[in-house]
Amino acid sequence: MTEEERVELAARYQTVRSGIPAHVTLVAVSKTRSVEEVQALYELGHRAFGENYIQELCEKQSRLPADIEWHFIGHLQSNKVKQIAPFVHLIHGVDSIRLLDELDKRAAQVGRVLEVLLQVHIAQEDTKHGFSAEELLALVEAPWRWQHVRIRGLMGMATNTDDEAVVGMEFAVLAALFQQLRDRSGGPAFDSLSMGMSGDAPLAIAAGSTLVRIGTAIFGERPAKAS
Ligand SMILES: *Cc1c(COP(=O)(O)O)cnc(C)c1O
Repeated sequence: MTEEERVELAARYQTVRSGIPAHVTLVAVSKTRSVEEVQALYELGHRAFGENYIQELCEKQSRLPADIEWHFIGHLQSNKVKQIAPFVHLIHGVDSIRLLDELDKRAAQVGRVLEVLLQVHIAQEDTKHGFSAEELLALVEAPWRWQHVRIRGLMGMATNTDDEAVVGMEFAVLAALFQQLRDRSGGPAFDSLSMGMSGDAPLAIAAGSTLVRIGTAIFGERPAKAS
């Protein structure tokens, strides 16, 4: 990184930070970014980073400071859980019972309790993963079977559209479901609602997000993904 790039990164980071209220956690989404760029943001005092790809996450985790909180925000396959179980801070996109089973097993093996968010399907697109509202209600009302997994809340992604009415409505639906589940089940540990990215964070925060996942607005446009 050049000195100029560092100055630009610091400026974008400050701009993003200043738009986020103190009660909302900022996860800097560093997928496709170099170790050097993550290190540069770390040196500005940032600690929470989000990654989508297991191999990339493990590589960065092994090379960067140990006090970074790594958030896994991608689609997690059961056969990859083992690799991140020893260190991951929060897994955002848990979207199946099978995955809960695997998380429980791998967490027990490494003597941890893994903190996770359940992904809710709110967008109109079929490509986004997640539980339906009915499935979630059934899940939290049944006896909790996963002793090494703790649900901290929900995560969702709005439809990828410029129509703010659609996005705002989807976030409102997710926020209402979050409240409902918290009242029924959660207790004090059920406190995190992960919604909002670079393009829609203000709408998400207005709707009640407690955690935003922001990449582009901090690091600049992502290079096209190679694979
Ligand atoms: C890439 C990604 C983000 C960050 O997106 P930006 O538009 O770059 O802020 C947030 N959440 C998820 C799940 C992502 O995959």
